Amino acid sequence: MTDSSAWRPIVLTLFPEMFPGPLGVSLAGRALGNGLWSLEIRDIRASATDRHRSVDDTPAGGGPGMVLRADILASAIDSACALDAAPRPRLLMSPRGWPLTQARVVELAHGPAPLIVCGRFEGVDQRVIDKRALEEVSIGDYVLSGGEIAAMALLDACVRLLPGVMGKEVSASEESFAGNLLEYPHYTRPQRFEGEGVPAILISGDHAKVAAWRQAKAEELTRQRRPDLWAARNQKAPKDNAKGWQTLSFVL
Ligand code: SAM
Repeated sequence: MTDSSAWRPIVLTLFPEMFPGPLGVSLAGRALGNGLWSLEIRDIRASATDRHRSVDDTPAGGGPGMVLRADILASAIDSACALDAAPRPRLLMSPRGWPLTQARVVELAHGPAPLIVCGRFEGVDQRVIDKRALEEVSIGDYVLSGGEIAAMALLDACVRLLPGVMGKEVSASEESFAGNLLEYPHYTRPQRFEGEGVPAILISGDHAKVAAWRQAKAEELTRQRRPDLWAARNQKAPKDNAKGWQTLSFVL
C-alpha cells in the first residue's frame, strides 16, 4: 500500500535506534503502516571519517561540552539530499530556534517533507547552520538533551494533518491555534461526575447555542492563558471571523 509520493521526511541523528519510537504507534503509527507517510532515518556517524568515528570536538574559545562538527554534518546533509528532485526544508532542532507554531506545522505538512537534523552535545558548529541554510526550530523554552524528541514532536504534529490520517479532517480546523484561539473545553458521559454536570447548553440540542458557547469559552481561555495569541487575533483577524485554516492563513 506504500505510495512512492508519500510524505517522506529524513531525520539525521546520532541515535537512529530512537526512531520511529512513539511515531510507530497510534495515529502516526497506523498511517506509517498504511503508507500514508514514511520515514528515512540516517545515522550522522556514518559520515565520520576517522577510525574512532568521531563526530564532535571541543568548542573553539573553550568552555564545557562538545560541538557537532560542521564537516561531518554537512557531509551527512549532502548525502541525504543527494537524490532529491526538488529542494526540501532543512530544519535543525534547537532551543534557540524559531518557536514551532501550528502555522509552520501546516506549511510543512502540505509541502515537501523536511530534512530534520537532531542536535546533541552543546549544539552544532554555526558554519554548517549558515552554509546549509538550516532553519532552527524550537519546540519550547526548555532544554532537552537532544533533538530527537523535538523532531518526533514536530513530525507527529505534521503527520496528523496529512490527507487520510485523521478520521475527520474537519477536526483540525477546530483545534487549538486555529484562528489564534485555544480550543474550548470538552465533556462526555457520564452526565454527572463527582457532583458536577455537563454544561446544560451542550445537551440542549441547540447547535447555534452550542457553537456560541464554545466560541465564548475559547475566547475566555485564550484571553486568560495566552495574551500573545489574543493580541495577535485582535490585531489581525476580522471581528466576526470563524475559526478554520482559511482564517488562519489570513491571520498569519
Ligand atoms: N547548548 C544548547 C543551548 O544552550 O541552547 C543546548 C543544547 S541541547 C543539550 C542538545 C540538542 O538538543 C540541541 O542541539 C537541540 O538539537 C536539542 N534541543 C534541546 N532543547 C530543544 C528545544 N527546546 N527545541 C528543539 N530542540 C532542542
